[in-house]
Amino acid sequence: MRIVPARDGGLARLRLAGGVLSAHAARAVARAAREHGSGVIEVTNRANLQLRGIRDDAHAALIDIALDAGLGPSTASGDDIRNVMLSPLASDETRALATQIIDAMQADTPLHALSPKFALQLDAGERLAMLDHPHDLWLCAFDDGARFAFGFAGTMRQRPSGAIHRNDVVTFVSSVLRRFLALATLEEHRMRDLLARIGIGRFLEAFDFDASIQNWRREPADASLRLGAHAQPYRTTWYAGAQTPLGRLDAATLEALADIADTQAEGRLTMTPWQSVLIPGIAAHDAHEVLRRLHALGLATDTHEPLARLIACAGSEGCAKSHADTKADAHRLAALLPSHDEGAVHLSGCERSCAAAHPVPVTLYAVAPGRYDLHRDARTVARNLTIEEAAERLARSHADA
Ligand code: SF4
Repeated sequence: MRIVPARDGGLARLRLAGGVLSAHAARAVARAAREHGSGVIEVTNRANLQLRGIRDDAHAALIDIALDAGLGPSTASGDDIRNVMLSPLASDETRALATQIIDAMQADTPLHALSPKFALQLDAGERLAMLDHPHDLWLCAFDDGARFAFGFAGTMRQRPSGAIHRNDVVTFVSSVLRRFLALATLEEHRMRDLLARIGIGRFLEAFDFDASIQNWRREPADASLRLGAHAQPYRTTWYAGAQTPLGRLDAATLEALADIADTQAEGRLTMTPWQSVLIPGIAAHDAHEVLRRLHALGLATDTHEPLARLIACAGSEGCAKSHADTKADAHRLAALLPSHDEGAVHLSGCERSCAAAHPVPVTLYAVAPGRYDLHRDARTVARNLTIEEAAERLARSHADA
């Protein structure tokens, strides 16, 4: 498990297979956060968890808790490469294929040299899927799952490079990763770095694939399906989804989510790349009661709620680079914004924009405590705003739209 230093103590990342966390493991994570950290638990934009404020003398105890809860890698050096994103509503079949890929990667020791940021996406065309995060390699099923389109160094919205048969997926992924490592220089950590130098044609020379699907495009997805109560695809049950406030939970809330999953669903949670949580496996007649319980815990369950569309980085509390306490300021902004479901707003403590894995239309870049420059579509439209001034600007632009 990777534990890195941050301003508020150690930052421990727990990788979840396809975002899934059993209720039992959720209680273990809550206990670890309470006993060995600050109690703050974050859902990341790769549907993993982070525990903040880990004490220096608690690393071994924390790792033991994670391993006991079944959250560790199968080999010590294989933790970082378990980086395969799925739809939160992926079928059991897709999850099984992802497990095969991850197992193959963990068993292949040379692949452990990949950067921890090297990321894969496996998709079956689900209506709820993150299509905006770029991945080093993505694969998307078509032809009723018989074949997978694939592409490199971009998002699934882009033109595919080719297609392979389902039976070849695991071998293909391993071959792609091995070829990347064979061709990349020490400075080239991501697929985009390598392809910028050698070109896609040379990279693909080593593979057999169908290149005649250039016009294939993935079906659109609907991110609003991450919130609310909905019938579950592939199942007879429902799921309920809710947004964690600015990607954060405390230990008591995570335990309460585990209780809901145990008593009214099938005992598991699914984290999403929108830093939200789904509870799958709910009987249809219980779905709205589960949603009510999620809302009572302080989670946003409707796209109209401001906290459903605000994201913020760690801010000055957790990061020495930050010019402002972005989390606290985002909570103040949420209280001032009108309810509507238009566009995400991102508060960033500095220009690095860690919290946004893809471009967000509106970003407030901190320039001093409580002060922000407002950027819209990558252009600066106002400088040095207070949170109240920013709220007024955002409300006005919504009214004008
Ligand atoms: S965006 Fe800047 S301030 Fe915020 S967490 Fe990243 S590096 Fe720190």
